Amino acid sequence: MKKYLVCALAALTMTSMMVVGCGGGDKKAADKPAEKVLRVATEPSFAPFEFQKKGTNEITGFDIDLIKAVGTKAGYKVQIMNMGFDALIPALGTGNIDVAASGMTITDERKKAVSFTDPYYTSGLIVLVDKNNTTIKSIKDLEGKRIACQIGTTGEKKSRSVKGAKVTAFNTNVEATMELKNKGVDAVINDAPVVGYFLAQGGNEYAKTVGEVMEAEQYGFAVKKDSKLVGELNKAMAEVKKSGDYDKIYKTWFGEVKK
Ligand code: GLN
Repeated sequence: MKKYLVCALAALTMTSMMVVGCGGGDKKAADKPAEKVLRVATEPSFAPFEFQKKGTNEITGFDIDLIKAVGTKAGYKVQIMNMGFDALIPALGTGNIDVAASGMTITDERKKAVSFTDPYYTSGLIVLVDKNNTTIKSIKDLEGKRIACQIGTTGEKKSRSVKGAKVTAFNTNVEATMELKNKGVDAVINDAPVVGYFLAQGGNEYAKTVGEVMEAEQYGFAVKKDSKLVGELNKAMAEVKKSGDYDKIYKTWFGEVKK
């Protein structure tokens, strides 16, 4: 009791000296300013950008490596958490998370609700169908057909723009492609690099893409609207690009360096 009192007094009166002799732990904590934490959320059914490492809870991928590099460069300890894609923007609004790093396309509609960093990857949508399908050759052939997509995505928006289509929006991309496998839908609309990765990982046993990649989409990290984090992250991202770290991360996940 007495010891604690002495320590408390010491801490109060000797803050400038910092060495209060109440145990090693205290000294260390007092020497170092509190670590700033960056709470990053992602929906991990979007390999190779974010996905769960097989048999673990660990989330990995291009976006994860990049936001860790950028966040660290900006002076933060980066914390990754799992969240539904359609929950990301509301969570930024309420301040429950600081960043959404989830292959999120920068759109004018989203910009009304959140702010985005500079773009870090160029993507676009593509149509995925059963390998043996010979009638669907592009999005034009999807009129009146059954389409699966992920809820809250640009793929859902595109799906819903197809005349007469019956659209099912799933919580995850994995469920959307499962539905194609089970023949519950005729097509999936999703981001081309994710579809490409899925096919290369064995999806090509039952599925194939048709048509061209649709209009280009840029991925950005989203933050609370008008947050000063945008400037901090942009500055850090420019440094991560300049140092060659972006290229290294790109190479890890895509195998080549794109300029
Ligand atoms: N890029 C798409 C979007 O922003 C899909 C993102 C995702 O499924 N993670 O809507």
